[in-house]
Amino acid sequence: MTYGFETLAIHAGQEPEPRTGAVVTPIFQTSTYAQDAVGAPRLGYEYSRSGNPTRDALQEALAALEGGRTGLAFASGLAAEDTLLRTVCQPGDHVVIPDDAYGGTYRLFAKVAQRWGLDFTPAKVSDTDAVRAAVEPGRTKIVWIETPTNPLLGIADIAALAQVAHDAGALLVVDNTFASPYLQQPIVHGADVVVHSTTKYVGGHSDVVGGALIAADAGLGAELAFHQNAMGAVNGPFDAWLTLRGIKTLGVRMDRHCDNAERIARYLDGHKAVAQVIYPGLPEHPGHEVAAKQMRRFGGMISFRAAGGEQQAVDICNRAKLFVLAESLGGVESLIEHPGRMTHASAAGSPLEVPADLVRLSVGIETADDLLADLEQALG
Ligand SMILES: *Cc1c(COP(=O)(O)O)cnc(C)c1O
Repeated sequence: MTYGFETLAIHAGQEPEPRTGAVVTPIFQTSTYAQDAVGAPRLGYEYSRSGNPTRDALQEALAALEGGRTGLAFASGLAAEDTLLRTVCQPGDHVVIPDDAYGGTYRLFAKVAQRWGLDFTPAKVSDTDAVRAAVEPGRTKIVWIETPTNPLLGIADIAALAQVAHDAGALLVVDNTFASPYLQQPIVHGADVVVHSTTKYVGGHSDVVGGALIAADAGLGAELAFHQNAMGAVNGPFDAWLTLRGIKTLGVRMDRHCDNAERIARYLDGHKAVAQVIYPGLPEHPGHEVAAKQMRRFGGMISFRAAGGEQQAVDICNRAKLFVLAESLGGVESLIEHPGRMTHASAAGSPLEVPADLVRLSVGIETADDLLADLEQALG
């Protein structure tokens, strides 16, 4: 019997606790575990960096939702990324990354991994040929993509890029943070590892920071698990519990995020204060067909360019009331931001610089009419 997504979200890894029957996985807020005899831990648990039942429940749920063999939960998305890089790569190796990668991911490569000897090339991941041209067979260990990308919502063809990576002997890594496993399961399309900032849609309530790796293959999963313990950037029991609580409603939340985003994208599309709406659900989006092939729906993120330029974009962000002016994304509340001066300010002057007139929305699950009314007054 194979279960559907929403059933797995509520039950995978989350059987009633055996001793008390607690229906909800408890927060095992403990660092260590009593052993029955020397070298005989009761259920295999010895120390919570190496293993913790609350984290294990989250890890099993993540693996099930992404259709992978091994799920691992980390202190943050960047901690997950760092662990992955240092498991797979050695100094001298090469990685292809998106030319509009999440800013923190770019910083990890440019300011940390490069100093440690890792070489990388930014490529436009919505252009499969550009990624192929950036790959160096024999030296490239990872083709790393995000889809949709942040904040320009470019769409990468996961299946085509899996082929490009595998032809060169590299792994395809997909940062699936923007889509969530409800909308897109990269492993089904040939990805080797999925990365999440569970801080975003997976947790979904803007109340916890966390990250995850899901490996398609159990062998790579075991190597990643070794490094999770050896490097130590684990997700804590309370954070794992909050993330699991969020996961139970991931499917229903994502459907509402998509409903609201579709309405807002259509509204913005006709507005005179808006020069361009960037949303993969719009037929004119250049990645629309690929998105329709690999995603269930088109997500809750919308970017748009203000017709009046940078100052107008900033004014719109400042005037919004219900849309909270804040970084981050993927929570139940709607957020608005100016990428050029906020999330992507550090990319100024780099290949990752974003247009100055860009506004990014993380559309929440509030009443759609209220969100539209707020945008109407903010657009002026
Ligand atoms: C937020 C984010 C990250 C980093 O995750 P943290 O939990 O903040 O460390 C990585 N990738 C994407 C796409 C993100 O949005």
